[in-house]
Amino acid sequence: MFDISESLIRFLLFWGVLLFFLSLELLVPYRPGSVSKVKRWINNLALTLFNSILLNLIFSAAIVFTATYVQTHKMGVLNMVAAPMWLKILVTIAFMDFMLYVWHLLNHEMPLLWRFHRVHHSDLNMDVSSATRFHIGELAISAVIKISLIFFLGASPMGVLIFESVLVLCAQFHHSSLKVPKSFETLWWILFVPPSMHRIHHSVKIKERNSNYGTIFSLWDRILGTLITNVDQNEIRIGVGAYQKPDKLNFHQLLVMPFTRPVR
Ligand SMILES: [Zn+2]
Repeated sequence: MFDISESLIRFLLFWGVLLFFLSLELLVPYRPGSVSKVKRWINNLALTLFNSILLNLIFSAAIVFTATYVQTHKMGVLNMVAAPMWLKILVTIAFMDFMLYVWHLLNHEMPLLWRFHRVHHSDLNMDVSSATRFHIGELAISAVIKISLIFFLGASPMGVLIFESVLVLCAQFHHSSLKVPKSFETLWWILFVPPSMHRIHHSVKIKERNSNYGTIFSLWDRILGTLITNVDQNEIRIGVGAYQKPDKLNFHQLLVMPFTRPVR
């Protein structure tokens, strides 16, 4: 029962938020794109659909199963302590987001992981569709890690569902090419990741790219010294230096990209 409603919530949330930010970025774009939005969307959505058909269904079920299992059998750190539900959910969100920060950093620092993660960064413009442009290999490894973390933490199905919903919302928001009022961004930046912060992370400049790894909270970058803020937003060129031709970044080329020559 939980499986069906959970999948439905994920599905509706993903497409609902995607359409919401798409409408907003079409109405109030941050800046005009440098390549065709339609062609990028075809590739990005093809990857998204390919991943969800082959992978998300299996791993979503495994994630829900793990969370239900640890809750029923009172396993994991959170099940050893008595604390209110809301606090456990908050800890789940903060812990999972921090581990995602570490995982993201490793994706940039380890050449083998970068082979997969560069598929995400090779997008020549950034918008809400970039948020799910990932290679299936990266998603498969990260899903296995996520399941182990849920097991270790003893996260509840509700905690996991809320974490994943907040994650989708934040990722789609900070990838969108939406023009956000400066005052809102400044406030948002104190705790969370606004589009301007993540835009720096998608810069072709390696020094800028290897910064701002946060997904939900900007706190981890702030504490661990990976935050970069002083970049002229109008000067940022999005993408990976070695991949500048849009006709070399089609769906099938993105699928084999991890197995081609190494690039920085
Ligand atoms: Zn990255």
